[in-house]
Amino acid sequence: MDYSDVKFVMIDGARGEGGGQIVRSALTLSAITGKPFRIVNIRRNRPNPGLRNQHVRCVLATQRVCSAEVEGAEKASRELSFVPGKITAGKHEIDIGTAGSTGLVLQTIALPLSLAEGSSEVVIRGGTHNHFAPIYDYLDLQWLPFMRRIGLDIDLELVSPGFYPKGGGEIRATIRPAAGFFPLLIADRGKLKRLTIRAAVDNLPRNIAERFIKQTASQLKSRNIRKFKTEIRTFSGVGRGTYVFLFAEYENSGACYFGLGKIGKKAEKIADEMVEEFIEFHRSEATVDKYLADQLLLPLALCKGESAFSTPRITRHLLTNADVIRKFTDVEIIVGKKETRNVVTVRPRASG
Ligand code: ATP
Repeated sequence: MDYSDVKFVMIDGARGEGGGQIVRSALTLSAITGKPFRIVNIRRNRPNPGLRNQHVRCVLATQRVCSAEVEGAEKASRELSFVPGKITAGKHEIDIGTAGSTGLVLQTIALPLSLAEGSSEVVIRGGTHNHFAPIYDYLDLQWLPFMRRIGLDIDLELVSPGFYPKGGGEIRATIRPAAGFFPLLIADRGKLKRLTIRAAVDNLPRNIAERFIKQTASQLKSRNIRKFKTEIRTFSGVGRGTYVFLFAEYENSGACYFGLGKIGKKAEKIADEMVEEFIEFHRSEATVDKYLADQLLLPLALCKGESAFSTPRITRHLLTNADVIRKFTDVEIIVGKKETRNVVTVRPRASG
């Protein structure tokens, strides 16, 4: 295609975090704003630079959602051009083909489809419980409730779990037009109301889940946290895997952390690391966990009013996402310290 007349938003994929999130955020923003973009140096800071299969699937899924013209959507490609068209609702079936994260694909297309005129049915096959990505339980219990607070109208279902290396899991989502985009102001998370420890096994002995629960419970008690609910889930999917998940509900907010089973790593160590992450959050006065912090920026950038929340840690993902958003919009994103808190403010220029 002749792109000589197209005005691209130019993105350097090596900046900041330099990972796949830059590509996904650019895809979402491009579909929403209608602005074409060109990215170079894709995932340059990773040991295996360029698009991986899961990123290619995100490009193709977003291309379908907004009838985009695309160049460079191949594995290992380090450059991509994306010229979006109109967003259309419909049925979308996306097979990642590997154990790549279904959640990250969903997060890429959820906002554009929320702006479509009709309702969409989305089926995504691949990994549902991946390292370094939101697992299904995180999507369901943390991401989704926040998206609903903002005004998105999404239902989610786990059809079957998929773990690395086999994948083969499936999630389904119904995405209806958003009721609006309502800003989020969480000054104080309030008291801890409920804490749930969930452990699950997929074609593995139940006793791994029991060890996860036992260790998590004992670590929490040693920090004087004595009230929690426990639950064990057993799956029989196409592969095998196991995880432990901690879900903290506060009066005005929530936080979720998890650990995935790994061959050669003791269940107890995995539980210890997860509790450490949670305790870092719980001891801070942060209002959302450090992962949700970067995932909230994009939807909040669409709101008419000012949003603010705090995070236990200012991550590179957060700063990089803010940079990509600034490239496509004139939203003001301020990340800074207020006394002991790391506060993130998202402010549309018009209201500033
Ligand atoms: P890479 O280029 O590193 O291979 P990627 O495409 O898998 O990257 P990243 O750029 O690392 O992705 O983005 C990962 C996303 O997953 C971020 O939005 C981050 O907040 C989210 N994430 C990572 N770990 C967790 C976790 N433990 N809980 C919830 N979300 C997570």
